[in-house]
Amino acid sequence: MTVLIYDTAWQPNNALLERLHKVTGWYILNTYEEPGVGFEGFFFCQNNSCRDYRYIYHPDCEICGKRQHPNFVDYDDDDRLGCRHCLLGKPQ
Ligand SMILES: [Zn+2]
Repeated sequence: MTVLIYDTAWQPNNALLERLHKVTGWYILNTYEEPGVGFEGFFFCQNNSCRDYRYIYHPDCEICGKRQHPNFVDYDDDDRLGCRHCLLGKPQ
């Protein structure tokens, strides 16, 4: 098993990983997140087939650390991104 961790601009490099799978036959799993544009997902290749599952980005609440749906977070007066529970001072 080989694990690679890296940053890329704009898009996950799934086309390159698909080509790598076709050349080597390796099982490939690429998990990615793009908070700026607001998506995340995973891409995997196995048995000469690749699939990409992309969905809306879920940011981490900067107070409790839990991942939340983007409609469930907002910035407080100190510019911290917090979930509704933390911003309202209510335990989850
Ligand atoms: Zn929270």
